[in-house]
Amino acid sequence: MAKIGINIATGSLQKEEIIVGIDLGTTNSLISIIHPDTKQPVALKEHNSSLPTGQAGSLVPSIVHFDSKGNITVGESAKQYLITEPHNTIFSAKRLMGKSYNDIKNNSSFFTYKVIDDDTESLVKVQAGQKFYSPIELSSFILKELKQRAEHILKTPVNKAVVTVPAYFNDTQRQATRDAGKLAGLDVLRIINEPTAASLAYGIGLNKQEHKTIAVYDLGGGTFDISILKISNGIFEVLSTNGDTYLGGDDFDNAIVKFWLQKLSLKEEELKNNKQFAQSIRLKAEEAKKQLSFKEEFVGQLNYSSPLADGGGPEGAGHELKISKSEFEELIRPYIDKTIACCKNAMKDAKLTNADIDVIVMVGGSTRIPMIKKIISDFFGKAVNDTMNPDEVVALGAALQADILAGNNKEFLLLDITPLSLGIETRGGLMDILISRNSKIPTKASRQYTTQVNGQSGIKISVYQGERDMVKDNRKLAAFNLTNIPAMPAGLPKVEISFLINADGILIVKAKELRSGIEQSIEVQPQYGLTDQQVEKMLLESITHAKDDIATRALLEAKTEGEQLLETTEKFIYKNANELLVGELETTAEAMQALQLALTMEDKDLIHSKIEELNNISRPYAERIMDQAVSKAMQGKTIS
Ligand code: AMP
Repeated sequence: MAKIGINIATGSLQKEEIIVGIDLGTTNSLISIIHPDTKQPVALKEHNSSLPTGQAGSLVPSIVHFDSKGNITVGESAKQYLITEPHNTIFSAKRLMGKSYNDIKNNSSFFTYKVIDDDTESLVKVQAGQKFYSPIELSSFILKELKQRAEHILKTPVNKAVVTVPAYFNDTQRQATRDAGKLAGLDVLRIINEPTAASLAYGIGLNKQEHKTIAVYDLGGGTFDISILKISNGIFEVLSTNGDTYLGGDDFDNAIVKFWLQKLSLKEEELKNNKQFAQSIRLKAEEAKKQLSFKEEFVGQLNYSSPLADGGGPEGAGHELKISKSEFEELIRPYIDKTIACCKNAMKDAKLTNADIDVIVMVGGSTRIPMIKKIISDFFGKAVNDTMNPDEVVALGAALQADILAGNNKEFLLLDITPLSLGIETRGGLMDILISRNSKIPTKASRQYTTQVNGQSGIKISVYQGERDMVKDNRKLAAFNLTNIPAMPAGLPKVEISFLINADGILIVKAKELRSGIEQSIEVQPQYGLTDQQVEKMLLESITHAKDDIATRALLEAKTEGEQLLETTEKFIYKNANELLVGELETTAEAMQALQLALTMEDKDLIHSKIEELNNISRPYAERIMDQAVSKAMQGKTIS
């Protein structure tokens, strides 16, 4: 049922339900809409924001705090507990979306709260107080906060949203994001890629005639992503993505902190032993970093008392903290070089040269640093797009996409590609690919299969993702049974399996027996997600094992062919025993035995030769018996 909102400020009825755009970020999140008057996207800001001017009041820190009574707070008010109650203050939940403990165990020291590690295969949970929360629930708290803020500002119910995710998010992570929306009471109409949203915000792709190749450089507080997109005929396509999930503005703050500790002759232990001091100096470092985006030097004061600092001055003394722009630039240079290496990889994967890039879009607070803009612009050989607020562009683009969905820009389609091939298991454990890797989505494909046994009433469909020929080397996504197939001889049922990947990148598998019309479908929600590295590893393995795979496939195909020939020969003999000569029966039995034996050996050529022998023996009598059958059928029928 559609709800109609009343704008309390104006008393007017909101005829069309509003669809908001949400950037659910690792560090910060925000919500944006198309302004009803200007028709331009705007980020929603609380008017009575307690934040100092100059800081975007639209940003909601993606932090959730649980107090001892079970009360939940989100955003700025939760942030203050990061230092004082690290166990109950959850940040960076996005990094855990759709992940198992196995996926994140190498970075477990990053999380200051408890990530449950007792079952390494299933999705992670986080412990806060006596309760356990999934990353989906944690994200839903953030989304709920955003929804409430929007409702408060707009004075109208907000039930529908477009939510952005990184371009590299897999099916599980996209589904998890969608579920988080559902839990927060939001109908997530579309999940779109962050770089696509940022490009849209810059108006790229809004003109259908446009053909452009875009590099989106996204450097936030904790993560770095580079995405190469192609836009043609209003269709966005992700050509490649690369990045570092643990590189961002926080590293720059830490680098400044270390620099100052050295200047003050303090050890790094000081940070561990004196949490208050650690927090103060970090905040100063971030302030310095921000100021150095438009000043040549930062000079500040820090008051602290230290039990460790020998001769560090009297208790509570003020210390001068200084850093120049060039010192700062030298500190962060290695990090920027890392991002350039990622850009090079992304260009290689997209099979493009730097000169092919028509537009560079800058996203994320850290791209305000002038040196970064310069290095990126030099790398691609053209000026960067930096006129919009880099913290807001993704949400603004999401609002534009929401507007498209609301029917204001109908001819749009957003396109992504599948990172790995998708298929089902066929006889002998072989992978039969229905949708190959790098297919543009949305997409669909279908193929017909049949039964192997007479009267077979069910067929098991196992869905896999990966590039290897054997399903056991790929990753199982789901399995289901098509049951109640009416009894038919083997080979007669026509089972059509169809794969559909919708615009959100979610796979729906359907199986239908065409003669009887019975069908069964499943929406694939895999158990846990694949990391970029895993996708890369699976691709690499498919290449290094390509030779083995071809040999294995050939052997399996030979075995299957041999088994089928044995089955049909046996049936034929059973049915036509009376028509066969004793000698024929004997030689056939021998050839069948020889083939049976060959099937137990891993030699495809041997199997083929035994298949051939059996065929040579059975062919003459099979033809004779068929001729007899034909002439019997013709008896009494004359051609006049
Ligand atoms: P995001 O994750 O996109 O919200 O980016 C947040 C990061 O941008 C944090 O590390 C901020 O410290 C950083 N940031 C914000 N403004 C500036 C600025 N003027 N100069 C450098 N870094 C900034």
